[in-house]
Amino acid sequence: MKDFIDDQLIANILAEAKEQPALRVREIIQKAKELKGLTPEETAILLQTEDQELFMEILQTAREIKRSIYGNRLVLFAPLYITNFCANNCLYCGFRRDNKELNRVALTMEQIASEVKVLEREGHKRLLMLCGEHPTRSNLDYFLEAIATAYATKTEKGGEIRRINVEIAPLSTEEFRRLKATDIGTYVLFQESYHHETYRRMHPTGPKADYLWRLTAMHRAQAAGIDDVGIGALFGLYDYKFETLGLLMHARQLEQDCGVGPHTISIPRLEPAMNAPAAIAPPHPVSDHDFKKLVAIIRLAVPYTGMILTTRETAAMRSEVFDLGVSQISAGSRTNPGGYQEDSSDNFRAAQFNLGDTRTLDEVIYDIATNGHIPSFCTACYRLGRTGGDFMDLAKPGLIQKFCRTNALMTFKEYLMDYASPATLTLGNQLIHSLEEQTTDVKTRRLLEDRLRRIGSGERDLYI
Ligand code: SAM
Ligand code: SF4
Repeated sequence: MKDFIDDQLIANILAEAKEQPALRVREIIQKAKELKGLTPEETAILLQTEDQELFMEILQTAREIKRSIYGNRLVLFAPLYITNFCANNCLYCGFRRDNKELNRVALTMEQIASEVKVLEREGHKRLLMLCGEHPTRSNLDYFLEAIATAYATKTEKGGEIRRINVEIAPLSTEEFRRLKATDIGTYVLFQESYHHETYRRMHPTGPKADYLWRLTAMHRAQAAGIDDVGIGALFGLYDYKFETLGLLMHARQLEQDCGVGPHTISIPRLEPAMNAPAAIAPPHPVSDHDFKKLVAIIRLAVPYTGMILTTRETAAMRSEVFDLGVSQISAGSRTNPGGYQEDSSDNFRAAQFNLGDTRTLDEVIYDIATNGHIPSFCTACYRLGRTGGDFMDLAKPGLIQKFCRTNALMTFKEYLMDYASPATLTLGNQLIHSLEEQTTDVKTRRLLEDRLRRIGSGERDLYI
């Protein structure tokens, strides 16, 4: 496949988008409200807008779009690192080959099952499984066995993992077929930087040095039948405006070639990491102001693509950007293999990077519920085959609200009954009750009342 990221084209679009009149910016904001997305040229004009009043209008529009498409639910997941062995040397990552101080670990299947049990006993139902890239200590066979182990690991009170998204190095189409056969949810992979020169500098050796092999991974995944794919860029390596346009170019190319764009976009910002020079001094640090701006602009540009925010961000920052367009968040995370069972004092020696939000799942849930968000552990769409284009068909007419809201409330109720602290239980029940009262559609309300009652009497894993 040909390289579809043209650095010069992106630079030109950004240069031409500078200093546009407020009227033009407002026209674009108005167009975004129609939920049809924006072109790269329009997106670039928003990115180049420095006016504070227009910035506030962009944020406000992002909030409105988020509400109208996704409602107030937030889907929760936990990352599960199974090994930190890595043959690559990414300058920003603690797992890089040259970090000789890292405590290298490849979890055994028993250890993976123990990690999963800890997460299940906290209430998690969705995992993102990840690892370094290593020919012998972290290969596909090992990874596939780990997925099977995690799905097979059950705990009391119906504790189980219902969806595993995966984030592993790019595979061939044939290998993606094997991955698809293990029943994964979304295949996630970040391009890190869409800027070729930056990419080359950040990935000096190892298989990851091949920009094009990584860029085209999602096309191969789609060809192998994985129709939910998640893209991302690591913000801080290069100009955030360039990377945002790179993400959009990638999304458009997938839509054009595969008939469906990415299911999610991830927006990680660089965090400090051990012996990782680019993480300790990021070449293009993204300020909090610019981070909010890019989240909001992505929401306007690709309204139906979910956005993922992880515990790299602090609790305060996370609450600020949830409303701007984030639909999935991680909680209670560890980035070192074995970290869920271990004493936290040992974590740093094996971790990929430092975390901004170290709260437990229950603390995060209490916080987001206080702010009126519905914590969701829903896995319905993927289990009912509503993926790829089918998911988009569902999302576009606004049905996402109806299905997802009901499923979110059901899974939240399960969490409250099985895992919540007393304070979260009281708060959560109040929230569910008030949201039930606000459900105006009679059929939906009856359905919701029925399912909540059934969950109250002990049924589990109900979804529509
Ligand atoms: N090794 C695979 C890869 O590189 O694609 C799997 C994912 S890697 C374990 C997860 C992601 O963590 C990387 O894609 C990168 O964007 C991100 N990451 C690495 N170092 C980071 C840092 N210092 N701060 C924030 N994110 C980082
Ligand atoms: Fe390895 Fe991925 Fe870290 Fe690069 S980002 S060193 S590939 S784990």
